[in-house]
Amino acid sequence: MVQVRVGSTKYRKVWRSWLHLRRIGLRKDGSGAYRGDLKRRQVEKLKQYCEKKRLSFRIDNEYGRRGGSYRSIFFRTHAPAFGNYYFCAYCGRLLPENQVTVDHLYPVGTASQDLKVQKKLKRRISGINDPDNLVAACRACNQKKGIQTGRWIRRGKIGRHAWYWELRWAFRFALAAGVVFLILWVGYQVTAMSS
Ligand SMILES: [Zn+2]
Repeated sequence: MVQVRVGSTKYRKVWRSWLHLRRIGLRKDGSGAYRGDLKRRQVEKLKQYCEKKRLSFRIDNEYGRRGGSYRSIFFRTHAPAFGNYYFCAYCGRLLPENQVTVDHLYPVGTASQDLKVQKKLKRRISGINDPDNLVAACRACNQKKGIQTGRWIRRGKIGRHAWYWELRWAFRFALAAGVVFLILWVGYQVTAMSS
């Protein structure tokens, strides 16, 4: 069963469809919207109905619910990389805990409204707020990512590991040290040759 919510829009008030909504088993909630649990195949039908009638439609099941506690879930389940600093999973910037925005690797918007996506995700994460779906991000990356998937998810999956950024920093440092060494060596050779 999937919980759905149907509400008014500026084009149409939901009460005008009350008869239809009651017939399929939805009931009015405190906010004036209609809620209820439907079977999977009914969900798609209702979605189409709402599109036609220009009502707002939302899947509101437990799996895709954002909830308010994911930030504390993240900090409870993820140790900082250094002190109280976390790496942004997307760009590697080091952020103190209070500047970390907790990002859903698979975005809430996509996962909460698409039952097919949920079905696929269920093999990997227990819900949208599963600790494995939460990564640290800087504000800029979080905004740039938005509801995008694909490339961003691949980046986040590697970038969530501190060792990846440590390796990159070590590599950059080694490269810089190598360049400096090479310049010094060439300089030494030139002065040795000319004297
Ligand atoms: Zn970032």
